[in-house]
Amino acid sequence: MTSLPRPAPAGSPRPGPPAWLAALPAALGLALPKSCAGCGRWETALCPGCAALLDAPLTEVTGAPAAEELRVHAVLAYAGPGRALILNWKNGAREDLAPVMAAVGARAGEQWAALAQWPGGGPGAGAPARLIVVPAPSGIARRARGRLVAAALADAVAQGIARAPAPPPGGAGSPGPLIVSADILRRENGRAFRGAHQAGLSAAQRRRNRQAPPRVLADASGWDALIVDDVVTTGSTLRSCATALRGAGARPLGALVLAATPPPARATARLPGPVGPPGGAGRRGRTAAKRL
Ligand SMILES: [Zn+2]
Repeated sequence: MTSLPRPAPAGSPRPGPPAWLAALPAALGLALPKSCAGCGRWETALCPGCAALLDAPLTEVTGAPAAEELRVHAVLAYAGPGRALILNWKNGAREDLAPVMAAVGARAGEQWAALAQWPGGGPGAGAPARLIVVPAPSGIARRARGRLVAAALADAVAQGIARAPAPPPGGAGSPGPLIVSADILRRENGRAFRGAHQAGLSAAQRRRNRQAPPRVLADASGWDALIVDDVVTTGSTLRSCATALRGAGARPLGALVLAATPPPARATARLPGPVGPPGGAGRRGRTAAKRL
């Protein structure tokens, strides 16, 4: 689904980080601690292999069926060093990743605008195209800690979309597209079952509570919408965000996430088989992956 780092030919010099990441000396060279935030390699804050993971082109996520008709794009797979990078950023263990992730988000926004061909025209003749970039809602605990990673990512994505090449102007004096990032979704936090405390609910009821559409804090009539989150697993959160935004009058165009959890079938397909020649399990794994 996502591109893996390209191995360097034998004997060639070790590749450096991509140019757009190398322009961030505070993150790459000066900050402590000096171990790679992805793979843990010493003497570097972000090694070339892990930087290459973040440099992957945006790809469409096919393993999030609960997102239904919503198109979801991701930068990398939520696995291995990529997972460690995101967890270290989310949990605050590596504050030095903030500018790196902002650069990744902006670049992803720029690529999304090209893939989605946004703006494709305003809702009416002469009307400016309007896009609201909305982070998936954070829970109360995360909000209290001030670690609003999806909101930070949405800000970066909006900046990237704004710097994407604009389409030809519709005529002299035609208004340009309007792009804003707005943290307007809030979780209901168990209110779907009024009068019942979350602690008294069954597992299924709790799951339904988490999937309940969030509240929308503003009228979004006439706006196109792009939903942003750090990680997608099944896509149910993104779908509930899209449902809520539709209810507030917006037109959800898709979702953009930093990373997508690989489908479980793909992970189990890599398990070695009990018998067979070397590589046999790998062949079975590739066959299984193609069926997905
Ligand atoms: Zn690394």
